[in-house]
Amino acid sequence: MSITCISPAMKILNETFGYRNFRSHQREVIDHVVNGGDAFVLMPTGGGKSLCYQIPSIIRDGVGIVVSPLIALMQDQVRAMQQVGVKAAFLNSTLNLEEVYDVEHQMQDGELDLVYIAPERLLNERTLWLLNRCKIALFAIDEAHCVSQWGHDFREEYLKLSVLHEQFPDIPRIALTATADGPTRREIIEKLNLENAGIFSTGFDRPNISYRIVPKKNPKEQLLRFLETEHPSDSGIVYCMSRKKTEETALWLAQRGRTALPYHAGMDATDRQKNQDRFLREENIIIVATIAFGMGIDKPDVRFVAHLDLPKSIEAYYQETGRAGRDGEPADAFMTYGLADVILLRQLQEKSEADEKHKKVERRKLDALLGLCETTSCRRKAMLSYFGEEYPDSCGNCDTCLVPPEDMDGTLAARKALFAVYMTNQKFGTGHLISILTGKMTDRILQFGHNKIKAFGGGTEFKPDEWGSIFRQLVAMGYLSVDMEHGSIKLTTTSKDIIKGDAQVRLRKDPIPDKKAGSSRKGRRESEEAYLSPSEKNLFNHLKQVRLALAKEAELPAFMVFSDSSLREMAVTRPKNEVEFSAISGVGKNKLQRYGDDFISAILKFIADEKSCLKE
Ligand code: ADP
Ligand code: ZN
Repeated sequence: MSITCISPAMKILNETFGYRNFRSHQREVIDHVVNGGDAFVLMPTGGGKSLCYQIPSIIRDGVGIVVSPLIALMQDQVRAMQQVGVKAAFLNSTLNLEEVYDVEHQMQDGELDLVYIAPERLLNERTLWLLNRCKIALFAIDEAHCVSQWGHDFREEYLKLSVLHEQFPDIPRIALTATADGPTRREIIEKLNLENAGIFSTGFDRPNISYRIVPKKNPKEQLLRFLETEHPSDSGIVYCMSRKKTEETALWLAQRGRTALPYHAGMDATDRQKNQDRFLREENIIIVATIAFGMGIDKPDVRFVAHLDLPKSIEAYYQETGRAGRDGEPADAFMTYGLADVILLRQLQEKSEADEKHKKVERRKLDALLGLCETTSCRRKAMLSYFGEEYPDSCGNCDTCLVPPEDMDGTLAARKALFAVYMTNQKFGTGHLISILTGKMTDRILQFGHNKIKAFGGGTEFKPDEWGSIFRQLVAMGYLSVDMEHGSIKLTTTSKDIIKGDAQVRLRKDPIPDKKAGSSRKGRRESEEAYLSPSEKNLFNHLKQVRLALAKEAELPAFMVFSDSSLREMAVTRPKNEVEFSAISGVGKNKLQRYGDDFISAILKFIADEKSCLKE
């Protein structure tokens, strides 16, 4: 007789969560923390960080305390835990006194495995007093990058979390983040006293996200075409820079038949919450938001993130696009990008009141972002390299890999552009300069006599659009700048390098936009649904209905009942009894008990109906 010894962690993974195998590093982190070690876990969004503290909290004696700034999320996190049969609760400002007492008692009586707490609450005296009276399994510090003063999610209270280390030196701490860059990592280690922690980093690639950055022409129309051809009935997020624009865009999309809801910090809090709830609970909802939206959106099946305006940095782009495809299934990051974006961000950066040292950092970040937009090679490689990660080759799942743009020697074109700027005393915007270069006779050209200067008609080898792209790239590279007040194009200190012939310029030929946006995606990873047979697809859609009804009844988001991938596995393997049903990934003991009957009988009925249809 052979005895297979299965570890407690594996047993919980299988029986409670219903998953077959650990993902990379999960097991090591879990073992390390179960044995009392501190850990610092760097994994991309969707990588599976939660299990790294959930399982040790269950295995170790006492309650696991999860520090998270995302109050809005806590209720859902707790409900998700309860769905799989883990005893969890939260403590935050949304509870009334009676509810607080109740949780506190349960903690002291050792009845809970996990408690989610907002940092400001954790740090008050009452909570610290309470913690001293409880058996604590571990402290998990989620969104650990909030401790970083450089980052955009900085939270003052995170700095004070060192108190955990001081007051509870024997309790393991596990800090987790999906923010990648080196300085932030070092800051987290220093500020949270994690010098002796095990560091577990899986790398930051999100292979299921397909990246695409297209030249901006008519962004709303471009977005609509993208949605119609690629996401006719998916949930996703559209990011815009201003509140006004989110409202306008949501309305515009709604007029075109999509359920699109705005979200920004200026909205009435109840309306905002309502829109967020609909996004989480219903299907096929598009949220049009400023960057105020996102922190704490734990919806796993967001199929696209579209940017109509440029984000502030590569970190921000990575984080915002990272909200797509947490479930690991194919998802799209789509962005429109144009000269106006470059101008705006350069202006913001100039206006910034930061000191010179910070400004320098900001400038470098902006240059890196513009570099990502203008690159002719793999976007993923460029992004990961920014985070200090080497990516071999090219990814085959970004626009520049799928349809490689040509690049060209742009030295002469650059010289012509700069010359036109110089000849017109740096007083005009790109529209006028392009008219000069292409020899277009407009009223303004005549008014200023610019048809008589040497530059007039000197650049007819390029179309106006192409000159637009050239100017954008020259501004992005810093060979030209834009006057804040008047929008006129100016020479810069590096312009002379081109005029004197000291610098060579490589320029990107923007690909000509395809009428059918979809065709640029040839070779891109197909959605898993594409691999289902017609009958499997029917069953899958039917099971989605069953899921929706059960979710509505329990007032849960549908994905908390089962993920799409669990439903797809059911549609393919058609489990007919409890044993077969338990073999589906995502079906643990609790969910089997709760939902098994409903799904099994739906499947049996579907099979019977299908058979009788065939006979007829
Ligand atoms: P993160 O917090 O890193 O963004 P999550 O912990 O939310 O990621 O995990 C993302 C998704 O992957 C969740 O739906 C989770 O249930 C699932 N998941 C995590 N670990 C595993 C695993 N070992 N096997 C299957 N699915 C997993
Ligand atoms: Zn690529």
